Amino acid sequence: MEKVSIAKCNDYDSKHVYEAVSKCIELLGGMSRFVEPGMRVLLKCNLLMRKKPEEAATTHPEVAAAVARLVKEAGGIPVIADSPGGLFTERALKGVYRVCGMEEVAARDGIELNYNVEEITVSHPEGKIIKSLTVIKALEEADAVISIAKLKTHGMALYTGAVKNLFGVIPGTTKAEYHLRMKKIKDFSDMLVDICTYVKPVLSVMDAVVGMEGQGPSAGDPRKIGAILASESPYALDVASVSMVGISPEKVCTIQRAKERGLCSSLSEVNLAGDSLEELKIHDFKIPSHKHVGFIEQYFGGDSPIARFINNKFGPRPVFIHDGCVGCRDCEKNCPPKAISMVNGKPVVDLKECIRCYCCQELCPQKTVHIKRNWLFKTFK
Ligand code: SF4
Ligand code: SF4
Repeated sequence: MEKVSIAKCNDYDSKHVYEAVSKCIELLGGMSRFVEPGMRVLLKCNLLMRKKPEEAATTHPEVAAAVARLVKEAGGIPVIADSPGGLFTERALKGVYRVCGMEEVAARDGIELNYNVEEITVSHPEGKIIKSLTVIKALEEADAVISIAKLKTHGMALYTGAVKNLFGVIPGTTKAEYHLRMKKIKDFSDMLVDICTYVKPVLSVMDAVVGMEGQGPSAGDPRKIGAILASESPYALDVASVSMVGISPEKVCTIQRAKERGLCSSLSEVNLAGDSLEELKIHDFKIPSHKHVGFIEQYFGGDSPIARFINNKFGPRPVFIHDGCVGCRDCEKNCPPKAISMVNGKPVVDLKECIRCYCCQELCPQKTVHIKRNWLFKTFK
C-alpha cells in the first residue's frame, strides 16, 4: 500500500498553505525523511507558460514557497525549476518566473530560481520505451527532486498531475521531438512513466487548492478543490487526485501504463491519511469536451491504417479562431510535425500532418485554439 496524505486548504494565504503542506508531509514522516542537511533539492513545479497564479494553469507560488520552507528547515537548499513550453532560455525563464509569481516568493523567502539552461543526455536502461533522454542539467545537479504538480485536465492525456509534471525536465522545444517519436497516446504515456522512473522524485506534492477543469491544461477554468495532497509515490498521488475529482483512474493513460509495470493504479492500493477524500470529492468536475481518441486506438489497434484514417478524417482537431489570435506564432513554433503555417499572420493547420498532440492549444496564450469534434465522431463514440 502506498500512502497519500490529504489536508484541506481553502485558499492560497501563505500561512494556510504552509500549515496544509506541513500537515501532509508530517503524515508521511516529516521532511527529514526525504531531505538531508546540505542536499540541493530541485522543486519541479508545473510552470507551463506565462500564466498568473489565479489562472490555475501553473503550480501556485505559495505551495512552492511552503515546500521550500520545509526543505530549508530540514537543512536542504531548495531550487525552483521547470522547463516551460517554448524556448528554454534564461530570458524565457525570467518571464515565466515573473508572471507565475515565483520571482516574488523567491525574493521574499530567499529561494533560488534555476537559470541553468544547459541540457544533458542521460541513459535510462530500465526505460520501457526510451533508453536515453535529454534533460535539463539542473536535474542532474540536484541531489533530490520534489515534484510539485497542479491538478488539471489535459486535452491529450485527460489529466495532468504528478507523473506528467515530470515531462517538464525535458528541455523546451525538445519536448516536440518526444511528441513526434511517440505519436500514439499509449507510447507517449509509457514515455511519461519512463521519465518518472528515471527522475524518481523523493516526494510528490499536489496543488489542488484550485485546480483546472474543462479545456486544460491551459485554456480551462479554475475550479476550487480545496486540498493539498502528498505522497512518496507519484503514481499513488495521481490515483488519489483523480479520484478526488471524480475521474476514474482506469481512464487515465499514465495510470494504466503504470499498472502494467505493477505500480500503484487503483484506490484500493492507496493508504489514505489525513482529511477525508470522500468529503473533499467533487462530483461534477468537467473534463475536456473533445476527450481524446484513445477509444479509436482501442477498437482499431493504435497505428493501424483505419485508425489513422478515422482520426484524420473525423477525430477531434485543432481549430484556430483568428479573431483574438495575436499572431505570436507560439503554436507554429511548437507544433511537433510542423503542421502549422502562418498565412497573413494567422495560423493554418494541415490536418494530414497533424498528430493531435494539442500542444498548440496548450501553449496558445490567447485561448484561441479550440479542439472540435466531428458530429460523426461523436455519434460513433
Ligand atoms: S493561435 Fe494562439 S499561439 Fe497561435 S499565433 Fe494565434 S495567439 Fe499565437
Ligand atoms: S496542429 Fe496542434 S494538435 Fe496538430 S500536431 Fe500541431 S500542435 Fe499538435
